[in-house]
Amino acid sequence: MSKYFESFVDYVAVRNPNQPEYLQAVREVAEDVIPYIETQAKDLIACKLFERITEPERTVSFRVVWVDDSNHVQINRGYRVQMNSALGPYKGGLRFSPTVNLSVLKFLAFEQTFKNSLTGLPLGAGKGGADFDPRDKSDSEIMRFCQSFMTELNRHIGGDTDVPAGDIGVGEREIGYLFGQYKRIQNNFTGVLTGKGPSWGGSFIRPEATGFGLLYFVERMLYEKQDTLKGKKVAISGAGNVAYYAALKAISLGAKVITISNSNGTIYDEQGFSQEKLDYVNSLKRNLQDYTKRFPGEYHAGKKPWQFACDIALPCATQNELDEQDVKQLLKAGCMCIAEGANMPCTELAVKAIMKAKILYAPGKAANAGGVAVSGLEMSQNRIGQQWTADKVDGKLKKIMQEIHDTCVHYGKDNNGVINYMKGANIGGFVKVATAMKAQGYV
Ligand code: GLU
Repeated sequence: MSKYFESFVDYVAVRNPNQPEYLQAVREVAEDVIPYIETQAKDLIACKLFERITEPERTVSFRVVWVDDSNHVQINRGYRVQMNSALGPYKGGLRFSPTVNLSVLKFLAFEQTFKNSLTGLPLGAGKGGADFDPRDKSDSEIMRFCQSFMTELNRHIGGDTDVPAGDIGVGEREIGYLFGQYKRIQNNFTGVLTGKGPSWGGSFIRPEATGFGLLYFVERMLYEKQDTLKGKKVAISGAGNVAYYAALKAISLGAKVITISNSNGTIYDEQGFSQEKLDYVNSLKRNLQDYTKRFPGEYHAGKKPWQFACDIALPCATQNELDEQDVKQLLKAGCMCIAEGANMPCTELAVKAIMKAKILYAPGKAANAGGVAVSGLEMSQNRIGQQWTADKVDGKLKKIMQEIHDTCVHYGKDNNGVINYMKGANIGGFVKVATAMKAQGYV
């Protein structure tokens, strides 16, 4: 790598100490974008365009105090990272999880910058959340927490300023409580959050969007190789919203889904999941071990899905869940495609191993952009005061995923015809944001 690359990476490391996830995300993009800048966009060096992209426009961190069901006072830390507004209002989800810290949210906001740019919609980038664990909380505790969180957050967001949505630990229920509190404080029914319920300003297909979009992207990658999903064995990690809808869409496209997992273990069903089986998994909450009480299959405590032979691996759980060892195992068993439903689920070494093997690899910023894309469509519907049919939204989602795929091909195809989707997504996402930032001056 070049001198500019080395000094850039040093610069970011010094400015962001103790933020390993953030530095990982920046390095992964820099490896593609810096060679591009040095050869095709030298004018961006002097105006420090890429350095500016790594500095959030604004970061707020705040105290969230609430009272639990036993009348104990609880304190959490809330955040909103307003990363980049060159293309539109800040846009990105809220994550409620004990793993939330500034490093994680900055990496997510950074990824969101490129992801949102790739959608082709007028969306800036942000991310937020709290180190709050919703898993063991009652419904009223969740409501009280959301209300306290929004009592501070409301002053930083707005339909044309910053439009949060869900992420891990934040689904339609939480968005409802957050929206209700926002509306109560601001006295304004507005498109300030996406992922709302369909009867109160939400878009059809928003819950399905990330999982469906992931499969539309994979379908397109395979089509490029004159292949399809028919008969393919698919291993999926996660048991949340993304994993569930990815599994349903994979099944409807003729694939066989053989795993679902959470952080405690993996269900392996050799015969393949059906909608009925997936609904049963949903009803188990965190207790996946009970799957075998009703359906044949195996539960592997403490194991990840990547040890089972599959053609396609779809990590849909969380960051850094698939490591170099997992890649080795997947390759040995004949895996030909890894596509990321989660954000940065492959470790840096895993990505290097996948690249070396030259199998199909779709990075999250391209492959999981369907969620935020339909959020963008929800914003459009809110602005014109209409609700489009599920079919219409699904059609638009499919088209957006195909266009993202084509952008990746445009910027990622090498002279031998091999497509590096990671490079394509990084450069494709960067070019649009960089052009807008340059036009808007030194701000
Ligand atoms: N949290 C999702 C993501 O990682 C969706 C964000 C949104 O809809 O704003 O892209």
